[in-house]
Amino acid sequence: MGFVEDLRFREFGAKCVYFDRFGGVSPPPFDSLNVSTTVGDKKENVLKNLEIVRETVKADKIALINQIHSNTIVEYDGKIHDADGIFTVKAGVFLGIKFADCTPIMFLDTKNGFIGAIHAGWRGTYLKISAKMVEFFIKKGSNPKDILISIGPHICKNCYEIKDDVAEKFDDRFIKESNGRIYLDLSEANIDQLINAGISKENIKDLSICTFEDKRFFSYRRDKTCGRNIGGVMLI
Ligand SMILES: [Zn+2]
Repeated sequence: MGFVEDLRFREFGAKCVYFDRFGGVSPPPFDSLNVSTTVGDKKENVLKNLEIVRETVKADKIALINQIHSNTIVEYDGKIHDADGIFTVKAGVFLGIKFADCTPIMFLDTKNGFIGAIHAGWRGTYLKISAKMVEFFIKKGSNPKDILISIGPHICKNCYEIKDDVAEKFDDRFIKESNGRIYLDLSEANIDQLINAGISKENIKDLSICTFEDKRFFSYRRDKTCGRNIGGVMLI
C-alpha cells in the first residue's frame, strides 16, 4: 500500500493523505483499495478496505459523504449525507473523499484547527464548491489567510478532454484547445476561486499528480469500470 502525504499539515497537528489503489482486498477490476460501494465491488470488501485506511491513518472514525456532484457542504455528525464537502473540528475523524479523476481538495485552518474536504469534478467546480468551503470556514470564524489548501491527485489539464457543453460554462483561462480537442484545467479553476475567496496563493499546493497518467491511482476515464481512491484530512 502507499499514499501521498501533504506534509505541510503535520506542523499544525493535522494529516492530509491520498491513498493509491494498492494494499486492499478487492479483486480486479477494483484492485485493490477500492472505497466505493456503487461501482460493482462487494460491500464487505469496501468495509475491509476502509478499515485498512482507518488503521493506517490511526483515525477513530472515517467520515464519508454520498458524493453527488453538488456544492453541498455538511458538518460531520456521524451520518452519511448527500454532499460534496464535509467539515469538522473533531480530532480523530478522517474526512474522506472518494475520487477517480475528480479533484479531492483538503482545507485546514491552522489557527482554529478546523478541517474540510471537498470533491470537485467539473460540476462541483462550476458550482464553486471551493469558494463555498472557504465561506463555510469564515462563518465558523476563520480568517482565509490562515487556511492551508491541498489539491490532491486528479485528471490533469492535458488529459481531461471535455465537450463544448462543458467548455462553455468555464472561463477561457481554464480551457485549452489542442488538435481540435478541448481540455479543462480543474486545478486552475479551483485555485482561481480560492484566491478570489481570500486564500493566499502561497498556502495552496497542487500535488500535481494526474490520475489518468499515474497508474498507481484508479482513473474512471482510463479504466471505465474501476474502484475509487480515497484521500482525506484529519486533526491528530
Ligand atoms: Zn494527465
